[in-house]
Amino acid sequence: MGRRNVSARLAGRIDLTADTFSLRLQLDEPVDRPVPGQFVMIRPAGGSQPFWRRAFSVAGFGTDGDGGWLDLMIKIAGPGTRAWHELPTGAAVEVLGPLGSGFPVEAVHGRLALVAGGIGLPPLLYAIGELERRGVAWDLYLGAPAAPALVGADICAERAKAGRGRLIIATDDGSRGERGVVTEVLERHIEAGERVDALWSCGPMPMLAALAAVAERTNVEAYVALEERMACGLGVCLGCIVPAAGGGHLRVCREGPVVPASRIDWSRM
Ligand SMILES: Cc1cc2nc3c(=O)[nH]c(=O)nc-3n(C[C@H](O)[C@H](O)[C@H](O)COP(=O)(O)OP(=O)(O)OC[C@H]3O[C@@H](n4cnc5c(N)ncnc54)[C@H](O)[C@@H]3O)c2cc1C
Repeated sequence: MGRRNVSARLAGRIDLTADTFSLRLQLDEPVDRPVPGQFVMIRPAGGSQPFWRRAFSVAGFGTDGDGGWLDLMIKIAGPGTRAWHELPTGAAVEVLGPLGSGFPVEAVHGRLALVAGGIGLPPLLYAIGELERRGVAWDLYLGAPAAPALVGADICAERAKAGRGRLIIATDDGSRGERGVVTEVLERHIEAGERVDALWSCGPMPMLAALAAVAERTNVEAYVALEERMACGLGVCLGCIVPAAGGGHLRVCREGPVVPASRIDWSRM
């Protein structure tokens, strides 16, 4: 996949919840079509804040316009993400990517379960478009602690209605959808006999560890998109290493962010 640094403009922002928003970046030049799970490193052009690039998964991609567009979904976590919330429409932006490994879209068959925790939704939202194009059926399990923290539930419900998918909402407190953490709800559905041929997931590390355990118990192949803290995004700084099964480490930016769940040593996480 070509690693490219292209200029872009902030075309628009939509607030989703109190602390999440989506951005559309209009690209000045074409980039390779991202594979779901790949990410971009972005910063405002001209040295304004945040100076360091931040990593965000591709949440949407289209080819209309000169260079096409990219959609991102961002949760405010600190100064860098807050600055993106305040950047004015039309601002010039630098986009490096698409980077890293994606979900194995070529290998999908049967019925896929997508499992998103909080701001883990963006790569799976983008994956839905690819699955629809390939005629693959999907169930999206969308989890959050409580209803107000659910990210993108309405967008996902529309996608499910328009396509081959189903949306299953899980909240820890039962304030919307089924009660329980999203991995418990998933396991209940599998135990009830629902067909799941593979699992693709993104979310906080403890959730991904729980998902890896569900995958092992139920004997379903799982891939996870990891969102470890990352500085360079190019495999150089080793800021994003995670423990690998069998010893050693993986760089999330190069060997990941998408890896088979079985490649991670979750006990050393
Ligand atoms: C491959 C990849 C894809 C990502 N995709 C998305 C996405 O689609 N949407 C989104 O909102 N965020 C995503 N992130 C996380 C995002 O990059 C960070 O939240 C962001 O860089 C934080 O910058 P900040 O300056 O706002 O916060 P900082 O001040 O840098 O950090 C604020 C807090 O967030 C924690 N933090 C920072 N980076 C991460 C991280 N990568 N994972 C977990 N905790 C972190 C810090 O430890 C700190 O507690 C992704 C990260 C990676 C590596």
